Amino acid sequence: MSEQGGDSILSVSGGRILQILYKKFMSEQTSRLSELADPSVVYVTDLVSCHHKYHLRKLYPELSISFEPSAVMGNLVHAGVESIIVEYGFKPEFQLEKHIELDGRVYVLKGRVDAFNPETREVLEIKSVKNFQGEPYEHHVHQLNIYLNLLDSPKGYLLYISHDKIFEYTVRPSPIDVEGELASLLRDERHPRYAWECRYCPFRKICPYRRAESGSES
Ligand code: SF4
Repeated sequence: MSEQGGDSILSVSGGRILQILYKKFMSEQTSRLSELADPSVVYVTDLVSCHHKYHLRKLYPELSISFEPSAVMGNLVHAGVESIIVEYGFKPEFQLEKHIELDGRVYVLKGRVDAFNPETREVLEIKSVKNFQGEPYEHHVHQLNIYLNLLDSPKGYLLYISHDKIFEYTVRPSPIDVEGELASLLRDERHPRYAWECRYCPFRKICPYRRAESGSES
């Protein structure tokens, strides 16, 4: 500990600010617990990820809650960028929903785009990553394309931010079969979708499809 004039000026904090961040971050997650377990609620991210994660989340929703520094950092980066672009006509954390009937049951497909400009219909997705390899990730482009289709948007932007790079890509919409993708998810056809997913998966300790860890997303 540093000392000045014999008195220590540094001590381990009781967590004044850390507790504020913890409460904010965890309350957002716990408030969604019943929705996480509701089988009729499907997130856009479920369509672009390992299908089995969706099925395990419905059974064990609490396992998807965590307080990881990387996720907190990602949230703070999002909040910072969103607070700036709001001055340019973008609405941050824009929610979207589509009801889809499949085999006599209604599913609610939900998404939350990082920012949407209602006038120009542009969409922004922010990706805070540890290391950016210089190429957009397939699942990020896929996710943004679903948003573009659901919002009838002419274009979107993928903004990557890592500690040493800030890259932006423009994505134009291409047609997708959302109903088909939902049916595939419900049939649990792809698990995992990418080999690296298991490494970061909160269900890896109970998943029979878990792959040996290899590769990385970022
Ligand atoms: S451990 Fe792998 S296969 Fe299992 S749910 Fe997670 S990502 Fe999917």
